Amino acid sequence: MNAPENPWLSYTAVIEEVRSEIESVTTLTLRLQDEGRAAQYRFAPGQFNMLYVPGCGEVAISMSGPVSDDGNRIVHTIRNVGRVTQAISQLGPDDVLGVRGPMGTPWPMEVLEGRDVILVTGGLGMAPLRPVVYELMREPSRFGRRTLLYGARSPDLLLYARELDAWRSSGIEIHLTVDRADPHWHGHVGVVPLLIDRLVDLAPSNTRMFLCGPEIMMHFSAKSALARGMAQEHVWLSMERNMQCAFGMCGHCQWGAHFVCRNGPVLRYDVAEPFLQVRDL
Ligand SMILES: Cc1cc2nc3c(=O)[nH]c(=O)nc-3n(C[C@H](O)[C@H](O)[C@H](O)COP(=O)(O)OP(=O)(O)OC[C@H]3O[C@@H](n4cnc5c(N)ncnc54)[C@H](O)[C@@H]3O)c2cc1C
Repeated sequence: MNAPENPWLSYTAVIEEVRSEIESVTTLTLRLQDEGRAAQYRFAPGQFNMLYVPGCGEVAISMSGPVSDDGNRIVHTIRNVGRVTQAISQLGPDDVLGVRGPMGTPWPMEVLEGRDVILVTGGLGMAPLRPVVYELMREPSRFGRRTLLYGARSPDLLLYARELDAWRSSGIEIHLTVDRADPHWHGHVGVVPLLIDRLVDLAPSNTRMFLCGPEIMMHFSAKSALARGMAQEHVWLSMERNMQCAFGMCGHCQWGAHFVCRNGPVLRYDVAEPFLQVRDL
């Protein structure tokens, strides 16, 4: 989890692999070109990099791959929504872009030790939680019951669908839901918080929850968790706000008393709750 000494400095990275995930979403695997920086580079699940396309701009993108021992394998899953992400979507193997990071607060993996774990996610929110899934798979004995509640607008928009069987085989209980089913869909239909309402044998005091997705989904999921008896202090969420410097200098992502880039993106629910659903602060 070592931010660069000079947080303004972008290091070039080569694109090693490009994988198309779902419509408009691509996963890139990057390798830092500077061997010294690559050797030092470490991130923790939940952190993000600022990816820079020269002449176009910079965007915050979470790490979506497993924690690695160096900067020779940095994985990002990116939705093409606008100017910079569109430019990134046009890059291919051997192209380079700039990487500034890792930035931000990680998911507090230590609070999951010996606890039941529920990951709750919707849409592209699965990307920042995928490194947590890999950690849950790596040492299952460190945790209690491990559950993933995951929703998408339609079955074809479920991210990493090809990995779900392996996640299940490792003992993770997975409940999927979609807003609109298709004729082949056998899972739930409805919004993600309903999965929390329906969860059988939830042990509230022994459970820790991580939420990531659209703010409205996180808001209602947290409400469902509290209604099931969970404490606010046992729920964490990851916030996405428009950010520029990514280390608490410029104020673009100021959110109440917090800079989402520096105090977040991962925040405890009781800290984040007063500001949720307020678009601009
Ligand atoms: C901590 C953090 C982690 C993120 N992780 C990922 C990730 O793993 N994968 C991914 O695809 N995206 C992620 N994002 C969102 C990503 O940064 C934005 O989609 C990107 O900045 C859009 O830039 P653009 O130039 O392509 O689009 P623009 O042309 O700037 O904007 C296009 C549209 O996207 C909206 N937008 C711009 N910035 C954001 C933002 N930060 N959050 C939400 N909407 C925004 C704009 O309001 C506009 O409607 C993350 C954002 C943050 C803050």
